[in-house]
Order: sequence, then structure tokens, then C-alpha cells
Amino acid sequence: MNSKDLANLIFPNINLTIDDLEKRYPKRDLPEGAMVTRFAPSPTGFLHTGSLFTSLISARFAKQSDGVFYIRLEDTDTKREIEGSGESLIKQLAVFDVIPDEGYLSDSEEKGNYGPYKQSMRSEIYNTVIKHLIEIGRAYPCFASQEELAELRKKQEALKEIPGYYGKYAIYRDLPIDEAIKRINNGDPYIIRFKSMGDHNNKISFHDEIRGDLELTQNDQDIVILKSDGLPTYHFAHLCDDHFMHTTVVTRGEEWLPSLPIHLELFDTLGFERPKYAHFPVIMKVEDGNRRKLSKRKDAEAACSYFLEKGYPKYGFIEYLLTIANSNYEGWRNVNLDKSPYDFKLTFDKMSLDGALFDIEKVESISKERMAYRKASELELEVETWAKEYNKEFYDKIINNREFITNILNIEREKDNPRKDYAKYSDIYPIISFFYNDIYDSIDKNTLDWTVMKSKGEFKEVDKKVIKNLLTEYLDTYNVEVDEDTWFNNLKDLSAKYLFTSDRKAYKANPNDFNGQVGDAAGFIRLCLAGRKNTPNIYYVQKILGKNEVVRRINSIIEKF
Ligand code: GLU
Repeated sequence: MNSKDLANLIFPNINLTIDDLEKRYPKRDLPEGAMVTRFAPSPTGFLHTGSLFTSLISARFAKQSDGVFYIRLEDTDTKREIEGSGESLIKQLAVFDVIPDEGYLSDSEEKGNYGPYKQSMRSEIYNTVIKHLIEIGRAYPCFASQEELAELRKKQEALKEIPGYYGKYAIYRDLPIDEAIKRINNGDPYIIRFKSMGDHNNKISFHDEIRGDLELTQNDQDIVILKSDGLPTYHFAHLCDDHFMHTTVVTRGEEWLPSLPIHLELFDTLGFERPKYAHFPVIMKVEDGNRRKLSKRKDAEAACSYFLEKGYPKYGFIEYLLTIANSNYEGWRNVNLDKSPYDFKLTFDKMSLDGALFDIEKVESISKERMAYRKASELELEVETWAKEYNKEFYDKIINNREFITNILNIEREKDNPRKDYAKYSDIYPIISFFYNDIYDSIDKNTLDWTVMKSKGEFKEVDKKVIKNLLTEYLDTYNVEVDEDTWFNNLKDLSAKYLFTSDRKAYKANPNDFNGQVGDAAGFIRLCLAGRKNTPNIYYVQKILGKNEVVRRINSIIEKF
């Protein structure tokens, strides 16, 4: 009996060879320098912000080089799998523009010629390669029980040896083939291990696209390649997949760097050309002055769903991710505001090595800046799409009158220096809900704060009668058909009559000569119209509400004075 017999016994139904697979998955016909990259999520839960970062940047590298970006679902860890999470990952990625050229799209759909793109469907491929490894004596069945493995560990601990299954501790690697065949025929449970030829006293050199030249300890572990459930482990599966899918650069998180020597040995053993590797930095966060990894358990922002729920605009968030990807992105953006962020050419050498720092304030400031320059009609659509999913009350109001919300969003928008009120869609409704009559009517008007500007550290209360008279006269002469400056000048004149001055100096010198300043008078109008002190520009608020509603609102309040 020889290794071929053993391979046939283990894989009686595998008739393919590696050559057959090479023919089935021929080299891709791509221009020189085109990168083939991939994102290979495991369907074990929500989309992590770090994964979005990795996938977005991987996709950009492929796109900017006219290459291919694909998605492969790595679902071989059935114990950790969460049903439906593969499909939801794809949907969330799409929201952030990460759309694969090929690959897994849903459990029933995929596109591309290098599939299947779901690992659980690729057993024939893995088994063909493993069969070959057994035939050439570089893989073997291991019958070690949990007890045997525990004993090994104990022994290694006592001797202060490196833990694991290797060399003399790999108790089944030299089991005679006849013996192995007997045990298999006997129904003994087993897994398949790779037979390493490495030595942990040796170093190997490797060039990582981001980290440069590295010295790594050679692998000597006989790692498991096929588990007892018949599915391969990540180490082995990724190698087969990245080879037959012709990935040119494996872009993945730096947590995989320590297992790189295993992967390199596997590639070399099979005579497969090594792909390039780029190990992306982990996303970090500063807490109490210390850096730590963004954590699934502690940080809401570790899940992409957080940004979707809060409604951070994708263009703001994507730009933020580009700023942490390449240190020169921001400088480029500042002088290329008219271009698409995707015109920026990412490079591996500008990626940080010691962890990309996640900064929510920066996300907010970029988003604010970008949202301010959206057209109101574009923003209306974005907000509508967001509200449909996350704020039903707002959504109903939007679709009830789209023009109304567009007008609201348009306040002071198309200026050279537009207002930067909103960092995310969820910021909008709390600021503008007063425009809607039912919301306005539900405000408790008794709690409105009529105190006027601070003068010399004290609040000066104005007699409500004065306010009433001012507002009554304001309504009598109400006119917003004039331009904003004229309206404001009229307000100044009216305010002056009621001793709300626009002469700041005079007020400062003798505050007791006045009831307040013109800003206070404007503040009263604002309070009447919105029930709050901060609103978008009230000249426009009034124009959008319309005269009848302005009169109704102001009267409803001064009647109570
Ligand atoms: N399935 C692996 C993970 O989710 C992917 C690693 C890789 O990209 O190769 O971490």
C-alpha cells in the first residue's frame, strides 16, 4: 500500500487533478499591473468597521488599476456562522459603494467565472488539492484524540517547549500507511494535517506591500487542513481560493501576519506562485490617552450598522476612511475639491503601520463639510432613503410633502460658505421638526425661555408687554417679500422703537438704557416660530412657513401674554 492508496481511500470520489483545476480557472486576461483583490468575510455577525475599511480600500486598489475586486464568503466555521449575515454584509457594503466585480452576492446568487465564491461549495477543489498533498506525502490523516493532544500540551509545558503539533510532537505524521489505512477502514475518526518541513529555528524573508521586508520564523507546525466536519481550515482554504481565483494581492487584517509562514509554506509546497500580501493596520481608538483596538463589545462605532443607523452620509464616511488609509489623502483632497475622492490614487506605502486611528469627531467634521455642499434635492433623497429605514415619523412627513423638506434643506445652502449644521441624517429632524405644524403645536409654550441677552453677567428680564407690542407691530408690518437685508433693516428699525438697539457699543456702554439688542428681538420671533433658540435663518424659516402660519404661530403665543 502506498500514499496513492491512502489518498484514494480518503477521497474515493475525487477524480480531478490540480491540472484540471488550473484549466478550469485559467489566468485572468488583465492589463499589466492590474490588481486582483478580494474581501473574504466570514458570516459570523455584523460588518465590522475595520472590515469595511479593508474591503473599501481593497476594492479601490483593484478599481484604480483596472483590475478585479471580488467577494468570497468564508463560511467554513459552521459553529460561528450566523444565519443571514453573509447577505446582510453584502447589503451593508453596497451602501458604502463597495460593490464587487464578481463573487458572492447572496446565498442563491453570484457572478464571475472563478466560483463558487462560497467556501462551503468548494469542497471538490479543496479535496482535489488535499488528495494531491497526501499522494506526495505532504498531508496525512491524524487520529489524535483530545486526550492525546492534552497530554502533548502538558509534556511541552513541562519541558518549556513551543506548544503545538510539530516535529517529534506530531505523533501521527510518521504512522505507517498500512496502519493509517487499517484505522480508517476500522472507522476511527481523523482529520487531515499538512506535513511541514520547516524548522522554527530558521528565519524566512518576506516582503509585505505595506510593511516592507520582514523576517519571520519558519513554520514547522503540522496544521490541520481538513476538519472532522469535512471542511477545510482558513489557512488551507484561502490558499486554494486565492490561487485558483488568481488574487494578485491578498489584502487582509494584520492579525493574519503571524500565520503568514504557514501560508507561504503551503504555496511553495504546491508549487503555486505566492500572491503578494498587504496586511492592513488594525483600527484603533484613543481612550483615556491610550490607544486600543476598536472593540466589538465596547464600541458602538465598531459596527458599520452604527453609521447607517445614525445616518452618516456615505460620501463623508468613505472620505474619512480614505484619510485613515493614506496619510496624503487629506492634502490631496484640499486642493482637489472638484474631483471625486476616487480620483485619488491609493498607495500601499502611505498606509500607516501602527494602527489607523479612529476619530469620530473627524468623521463628523468631514461629513458636515461634505453635506453642506450637497444640493438640497440630492440631500432630500438621501435623507428620505435613510428615514424610510430609521425614522418612520420623519419619513412620513417627507413623503407627504417633498418640496417642503427640500426647501427647508435648501436654507442657506447654495452660498459660497453654506451652513454646516448637519453631520448625519439623524441630526436633521431634531433641528427642523418645528416646521411641521403638529410638532410645533405639541411644544409646551409655557416653558419658552424669554430671557434676553446677558448684560454684565446678569439676565435682564423684559416686560412681556414690550415683547407683545413689538411682535404685534412686527406682524402688522410683516413683509418677507423683500430681500434678506431689507427685511433685517426693517427689523432693526422696528426693534429700535422698542429699545432693542443695533448699536452694540452703545448697548455695552449703557445696557440699562435699553431693553436689549436687535438679536433679542429676532430671538423672540424665533421662539414664537420654532419654540427654540436655535434654528436655521429665520428670514427663510418665515418664507417657508408662509405668512398665514407665521401669523398663527406668533399670535398663538402673544395671546397668552
Ligand atoms: N475570513 C477571514 C476573516 O474574516 C478573511 C481573512 C482574509 O481576508 O484572508 O478574517
